[in-house]
Parts: sequence; C-alpha cells; structure tokens
Amino acid sequence: MPIIAPVPTAGSESNNATASVVVVGASASTSARRPIPRGYVRTAVRQTAGVRPDRPCPCGSTADYGSCCQPLHLGERQADTAEQLMRSRYSAYVAGDATYVWRTWHPRTRPSDVDDDISVTWTRLQIVDIAAGGIDDDVGEVEFLAHHRHGVLHERSRFARRAGRWFYLDGDILD
Ligand SMILES: [Zn+2]
Repeated sequence: MPIIAPVPTAGSESNNATASVVVVGASASTSARRPIPRGYVRTAVRQTAGVRPDRPCPCGSTADYGSCCQPLHLGERQADTAEQLMRSRYSAYVAGDATYVWRTWHPRTRPSDVDDDISVTWTRLQIVDIAAGGIDDDVGEVEFLAHHRHGVLHERSRFARRAGRWFYLDGDILD
C-alpha cells in the first residue's frame, strides 16, 4: 500500500502526527549509540522505535508482534500469502520500518526509496476482501481499510509472487 499519499500535508497538525509515530515504543534515540555491528543496531532500533515484540501485532491478528509480523520484518520468515504480506506491510508502516516497505515493493513498480518520515498515526487495519493470493497463487488482491488518526484509507492492492516471494505491485484508492 502506497500509504505515503494520503498523508495530511503541512502545518502543525502533520508535525504532531510525525512526533506521535516516532514515539511509539519510546526511547528510540538511546539504542543506536553503542558501536556494535550494523545489523545489530538495525534490529535494536527497529524494536525500540517500532512496536514491542510482546505487544499485540498492529496488523490486527490476535498474535503478538514478536510471533506475527516481526519475523517478517527481520527477514527471518517470508510471507506465505498476499494477505500476510499486506498485513506485514501495514505493521511496517506502524513500526516505522520503511526498509521493509521498500523491500516488499515489486521491483517493477517501487519508488527509488520509501520516505522514512511516515507521518501518519495508523490505528487499525481491516481486511475487507481477498482474491487469490494464496500459497499456490502467483497473483492476488487484498482490499483493506487502513484507519488513521485523520480518517481512513480504502485501497485494493495487487500483489505478485516473484522468485517465490510476495511483493506489493500497486493499488487503487477506492474512496
Ligand atoms: Zn502481524
């Protein structure tokens, strides 16, 4: 989901939204100071800057983040279905993991980079329809409502499998 688009622009309102996204999970700034290997820093930053592993996953599943979308964000697991990828990309937006959003964007359609400044406070994901996108499919569509502090994004996203992995291709904004 190219959720960058519907961001309320400019003004103090958007500044506030930026702040509240970054603060989720608190104290992101303290974890990156020690000179430890780079991969380590990334992991530490992701965990503290985003969502705690023992908290409910932002994607709306009943599982904790640590056993739901986090393994996907850390590259420990791949999404089996288009829906799973969709959910994990939403969680990545919530967690501020722009790298994951970029990495799971199809090379054919993805932007040169995804802005780290994801200045929307996402509150809830609701999947409203799924077409194909299963473990035996190569394409799929997921329609969802992504609720945020200023409204809701209604999108039908297309996904494609490439070299065994699911990627976000593009989507139509419906409302
Ligand atoms: Zn999840």
